[in-house]
Amino acid sequence: MAEKSFKYVIVGGGVSAGYAAREFVKLGLKPGELAIISKEAVAPYERPALSKGYLFPESPARLPGFHVCVGSGGERLLPEWYKENGIELILSTEIVKADLAAKALSTSSGDTFKYQILIIATGSTVIRLSDFGVQGADAKNIFYLREVDDADKLVEAIKAKKNGKAVIVGGGYIGLELGAALKINNLDVTMVYPEPWCMPRLFTAGIAAFYEGFYKNKGINIIKGTVAVGFTSDSNGEVKQVELKDGRSLDADIVVVGVGGRPLISLFKGQVEEEKGGIKTDGFFKTSIPDVYAVGDVATYPLKLYNELRRVEHVDHARKSAEQAVKVIKAKEEGNSIEEYDYLPYFYSRSFNLSWQFYGDNVGEAILFGDNNPESAEPKFGTYWVKDGKVVGVFLEGGTADEYKAIAKLARVQPSVESLDQLAKEGLSFASKV
Ligand code: FAD
Repeated sequence: MAEKSFKYVIVGGGVSAGYAAREFVKLGLKPGELAIISKEAVAPYERPALSKGYLFPESPARLPGFHVCVGSGGERLLPEWYKENGIELILSTEIVKADLAAKALSTSSGDTFKYQILIIATGSTVIRLSDFGVQGADAKNIFYLREVDDADKLVEAIKAKKNGKAVIVGGGYIGLELGAALKINNLDVTMVYPEPWCMPRLFTAGIAAFYEGFYKNKGINIIKGTVAVGFTSDSNGEVKQVELKDGRSLDADIVVVGVGGRPLISLFKGQVEEEKGGIKTDGFFKTSIPDVYAVGDVATYPLKLYNELRRVEHVDHARKSAEQAVKVIKAKEEGNSIEEYDYLPYFYSRSFNLSWQFYGDNVGEAILFGDNNPESAEPKFGTYWVKDGKVVGVFLEGGTADEYKAIAKLARVQPSVESLDQLAKEGLSFASKV
């Protein structure tokens, strides 16, 4: 049982932790001041790669290729970088108890880490079908995807079940990305989700119609309006069939489940204020406890632009909130102050040769523009969301770098629109004018 003390401890070694470490070094860090404690066995990496390049059959992405901060065009922080900067990277180490009053974290083997300042960056975990008691959900070859270990298991199964049948449970972006990845690996793919269209939290029926049509053209079978209620397996315990609520039964060699995530905050329950399922922070990512910050997926913070508390599970926010918290910590030490976090929500996804970006808020009336015909050689379309006469959100598929820059600006500026018909007619050129 060992005890170690650090000035700063980051619990969790994912996207936020990596970007926070870089910011600490940028602003001045002495050797031995910072420790990152992670239950993963590898240095922080760009998690979105796991459902994209990591699963490609040809030249797949592999570590160390996608350690942070390559995802935002920055320097790649290899494990040596942490050593060179005197940062202790404590890997394969799960914190099982946090005592915020004593400023101490401990592991199951009884090791203790003390800190002066703590950054909570534990991210999310997947929601499992076994959490709802779905029968047979613990069969072999039923996968979830959150960490690189999960992705390795899926890659092995894809190799073992060549040309087999895959069922994707869930129609969110993870389901859509995984459906594409398995199809590219030559599996026979069926997607199942209960909603009337895919990604209903963001997509309108018009947006979803394009992706569903495109996926069907690629040979992916889509079953909507029902859910998986059970699994049968063979004598090896490997999944063989997915039973659906509507009575159908689907053959399956591999099942991948993407039905959402849940922020990992149980370590801090009862010790810190919560809000909307996350740890409540202010616009400086300070929690209700002095010297304790929360960033990334776990933080519920004031989204200044919309004057509302929100929790955001997107990589861009994980990076920026981590940088903000470190700036706040360093400014406080130097007796300075900094501006409150003023975030413009940004989210993206890629699958097949498709790629989209979304900025802002998807509330109000949705106006579809452009060519959303899935048969088109080069489809390019988008959607504006208009609330109280102002454009507050924009989605664009197939844009150029400049066009994405233009829609980001638009969502920030929120220009007024006089006529929705005119907006639909102008399409993307409306964004270019702002
Ligand atoms: P994470 O990156 O999840 O890191 C949390 C870390 O904490 C992990 O290393 C975990 O092991 C560790 N940890 C947790 N509990 C403990 C503990 N008790 N002790 C020690 N360590 C602990 N977002 C997008 O915007 N676009 C995308 O295309 C996209 N694709 C994604 C694809 C996948 C497969 C996944 C899983 C997520 C994707 N996301 C995407 C979401 C994005 O990756 C997350 O929002 C982001 O990683 C959150 O960063 P974080 O630092 O808060 O948490």
